[in-house]
Amino acid sequence: TDVKELLLSRIRDVPDYPKAGVMFKDITPLLADPTAFTALTGALADLCVEHGATKIVGLEARGFILAAPVAVRAGVGFIPVRKAGKLPGATLAQSYELEYGNAEIEVHAEDLAAGDRVLVIDDVLATGGTAEASLQLIRRAGAEVAGLAVLMELGFLGGRARLEPALLGAPLEAL
Ligand code: 5GP
Repeated sequence: TDVKELLLSRIRDVPDYPKAGVMFKDITPLLADPTAFTALTGALADLCVEHGATKIVGLEARGFILAAPVAVRAGVGFIPVRKAGKLPGATLAQSYELEYGNAEIEVHAEDLAAGDRVLVIDDVLATGGTAEASLQLIRRAGAEVAGLAVLMELGFLGGRARLEPALLGAPLEAL
């Protein structure tokens, strides 16, 4: 579609970042283009409505940039899922494996409860480790996963297959 072409045209490939052999997808040109950024947040807000989400979770850090304007447009609350140690209140934590070592994400426990239907938003789905941990966190908080929406899926990394068990049938939308 036209929107898809526009979004793709505003993503910059940066070779060997953050390390040799990695082709990094840089979304800053998209964010700097108001037509593209508006098209993106509009498409994500449409998914929020389509999947009946009542809350939006953004994944630190680029997920925040996308998820916050979507929450405002869709008229639902925004909830940050942060790297460990950044949230001041009582949190639920979920650790997950990286290529080397572990990472941990947290959410304020009081931000999610039974009856919430949560759409998770991030910029890029790579291996799926971050998204998988976020889905586990949301369910442990008692809420339901309405779906996972990303701007871009790096298909060759197999994130979609890895996420399938954790999605429990919820949709994975990659724009
Ligand atoms: P995963 O846990 O799926 O391996 O990694 C996904 C996380 O890493 C996302 O939060 C995403 O922001 C970041 N990430 C991994 N690769 C890229 C990339 O090429 N471009 C951008 N913008 N983010 C990436």
